[in-house]
Amino acid sequence: MAITGDQRLLKRINRMALVRLVRGHPGLSRAELAVETGLTKSTVSLLVQELIDEGWLCEDDVLVTGAIGRRPTPLRLDDQRLALIGVELGVGMIGVVATTLNGEVISKYSHSFTVDSEIPLVLSMLCRAIMDTVHATRGAGREVLGVGIGVPGAVQESSGVLCVAPNLGWRDVAIRDEVMRVLQAHSLGDIQVFVQNDADVAALSEVEFSPSSTHDPLLFLSLGIGVGAGVVVGGRLLLGRGGFAGEVGHIQLQPDGPVCSCGRKGCAEAFFGLQVLANSFHLSREQLFERASQGDPEVVSALRSAGQHLGVLMHNLWVTLDPAQIVLGGRSCRLGPAFLDSARETFNALAHEAGLETPLVVQAKYAELMVPVGASALVLHKYLQPI
Ligand SMILES: [Zn+2]
Repeated sequence: MAITGDQRLLKRINRMALVRLVRGHPGLSRAELAVETGLTKSTVSLLVQELIDEGWLCEDDVLVTGAIGRRPTPLRLDDQRLALIGVELGVGMIGVVATTLNGEVISKYSHSFTVDSEIPLVLSMLCRAIMDTVHATRGAGREVLGVGIGVPGAVQESSGVLCVAPNLGWRDVAIRDEVMRVLQAHSLGDIQVFVQNDADVAALSEVEFSPSSTHDPLLFLSLGIGVGAGVVVGGRLLLGRGGFAGEVGHIQLQPDGPVCSCGRKGCAEAFFGLQVLANSFHLSREQLFERASQGDPEVVSALRSAGQHLGVLMHNLWVTLDPAQIVLGGRSCRLGPAFLDSARETFNALAHEAGLETPLVVQAKYAELMVPVGASALVLHKYLQPI
């Protein structure tokens, strides 16, 4: 009997439903999966066998006891045979990781470039880094499921075009097409490529790689040279009409405030963007981290004030979205307690004034690797959500 397109889609949905269940509850048996999904036992057995053959799932050792004989075989995600490749295209740096299905980093690589480099040069470095990682990962005996790329700007999801990245000075760059063209030219055209905003993929790193502890809606604040947010609602990214949702660095906090890189005045980023803070002391970003860790009183005082602005932003986003959890990530977290504690204090004080409880606020699980690991999570996210 011929398999129609609808049947193929249905099968993909069922397969990924099984993977999601096993991921959330490692140790489930085939019989339990049948109960959970409502699929017949024979369908589950067939699909599970396929998923085992392809490297998605594996069987745990069966406990054999005298009284009840062979117990149902527990299943879990296989972290040995497949790999996800995640890439960060940052402002002046490219980072690449390979991870397991559970988000464990198998290999990592990073490379810097001067920010005003020509776009084709940066893209060719990016492609080279991806291909090297694909070859190394395959060389180590793993199959590559796909490549995710996190970029510092708004992305049109359907085309993989980076619409605008102010801190890179890029506009309308067809990143996905270019990477796919190069992969194809090197006989790697079978590898799928996904592109998304860096704060969005960072949010996915919290969701896809810690499925049992996920809080939804989740608001991820990416604090660095740019300030952005990734929002996950009902397990999906909130992207907006043209991929511009989450550009919270340009929420205006003060109409007559300092001029922002976007041309407007008083944006959040103009108060606590990492480069803005470094520039205000005529320091490099590394020097700023150093002064902050030494407790330099002038720097600490400025960071406390910057943190208050972050606290106001957190408050404004909280009342807009009512998230169950706020995650703070990005390089600015290295500025330490003067910045982060002051933000939390301001946030809590504002909530307290209204007699409300604040949601859980935590720091990003993958710290400095949140974007490349998040880009790996994007690949998994795409597989797990076939429609
Ligand atoms: Zn702005």
